[in-house]
This record gives sequence, structure tokens and C-alpha cells, in this order.
Amino acid sequence: MHYTGTIWRPPYEASSLLLEVTAGCTHHKCKFCTLYNDLPFRFRMSPLEDIEQDLQEAKGQYELWENYKVKRTFLTGANPFVLQYERLLSIGKLIKRYFPENQTIGCFARITDITLKTDEELKSLQAIGYDGLTIGMETCDDEALSFMNKGYQSEDILEQCKRLEQANIQYKLFYLTSISGAGKGEQGAKRTAEICNQLQPKMVGANMLTIYPDSELLQEIKKGTWKEAGELEKYQELRMLVESLQNETEFAALGASNAIQLQGYLPRDKEKLLSILDEIIAGMSERELRNYRKNLPHL
Ligand code: SF4
Repeated sequence: MHYTGTIWRPPYEASSLLLEVTAGCTHHKCKFCTLYNDLPFRFRMSPLEDIEQDLQEAKGQYELWENYKVKRTFLTGANPFVLQYERLLSIGKLIKRYFPENQTIGCFARITDITLKTDEELKSLQAIGYDGLTIGMETCDDEALSFMNKGYQSEDILEQCKRLEQANIQYKLFYLTSISGAGKGEQGAKRTAEICNQLQPKMVGANMLTIYPDSELLQEIKKGTWKEAGELEKYQELRMLVESLQNETEFAALGASNAIQLQGYLPRDKEKLLSILDEIIAGMSERELRNYRKNLPHL
């Protein structure tokens, strides 16, 4: 299989066929992000021949497990949904040719990748299997989005996710706790919930910002232009997010950046999630949580 650099996938894609169609990120400008720093290029599109070779190889492997059927394929790379419609369609057709039993195709997507597709193109991509996109929206706090160079604003999140809904493409939105900085987290969480409450994400996930040595954000901290929130403050912010969400959706904070993992369905499990968060805030010390973050291996 052609895999380049570290392959990132969400935990819920563990049983999906991982197919490399791009490597790196077209944007590569978010100040906190170090995910694709190990690649010598910013973004690379895989040749269709390589993709077909990988599908042939995967088919050969899966045939060894008699009763195993590939139900979902996850396209790797930071934002394969940026590829042109025709390219995504060709990839979808290739997957169907080698794995006719495959039901859906997922990938990471940036909000700006959706903007590039017409409504008709989105519908046609849904028809060939594209579904369950993972979108790192990070926040709907416009000031934080601008400062971190995300390349879009909260209104874009609202507009583009609504377009996905119209095309019947499901998606999961990821929030980055503490992206707004010290003293601003609860406000950012409230604003994010305001936008999410107008949408129907299949899941609202949360990761916690961890600042790594090779990030541009560390330079901002050194210059005094941005201040990191305390660890307990981050949990207050997460509490505000859970409390303010009114959607019927899954909520999950399962990645390693969360010292304590949380999962539940809203609104059914809201009280339970809030009481766990209250216990963390009342019972854990800033030092314990800070030690956890300090010892977190580099992502
Ligand atoms: S956070 Fe996502 S969009 Fe931003 S640079 Fe990293 S991979 Fe690219």
C-alpha cells in the first residue's frame, strides 16, 4: 500500500479500509497544528494508478479472510475532500469496482473544501457513497478562527454544513477546547453551540489544545500575543459547550488530548456528562491535569 508519513484517522474509522488519495494538507497554516510537519511537501495528490494498485492489493488481502466484507473506506490525508469533483467521482467508481459491497466513503474535510463543490456535485458524491465526513471546525469563535489562520469564519461553517445536509451527506464536527485562549473559552464554547444548534451533525467531538514545540502558536505565546488557558479552565469551557448544545447528537471527547474521556448522546446523557465534568473540576488539581498534558507524546 502507498502510505506516506504518519497516517491520521479518527478512532471510529478503525475498521475502515484506509486508502491514500492525498498526503498532507492544502492549507497547512493553522498556528496550533503540527500534524503534517513530517512531510517534505505541503500537499500531494496520489496518481490514480497508485490508488488502483492499492485497491488491488487490499482486495487480495481481504480475500484471505473469507467472510470479511469491506463496508467503509476512509480516504487518508488532511483534506482529501478538496479534490475536484471529477477526481472524487473517479475514486468512488474505482472503490465500487474493487469492493462492490463497500457502502460509504469517508475522509477529513475542511469547510473550504465543501465550498468548491456545487450542490449537484455534492448530491452526486453522496450517491456514489461519500458520507460521514470528519470536519475539524475547531470553534465558531470568529476571533479565534482568524487568529489561528483557519481560513474561514463561523458563518461559513453554518452555510457549508447546511449544504452537506441538503445533499444528505452526514458529518461530524470537531471542537478544539481552549483554542480561544485564556479567559475566552466559555464565550467561544457558547458561540460554537449557537452555530451547532442550527445544524444536525452526527457527532460533536472535542479535542483539547496541546501546544507542541514546533508550532507557530508557541512563538505567539513567547511573544506575549496569546495566552494558554489553565487546565481546569479548559474543563469549564468543555462544560459550557456540553451545557449549551441543544442538538440530538453524539458527544465524544475520546482522543488522547482529553485527560478524561467522555462519550454520550445528547440530550439523553447531558446531565450525566455535566456531572462528570463537575467532578473533574471539583476533584482534580491544575497540577495533575498539567502533568498529563506535559507527558502527552507528540501527536
Ligand atoms: S488543523 Fe487541519 S487544516 Fe489546519 S493545518 Fe492542520 S491539518 Fe491543515
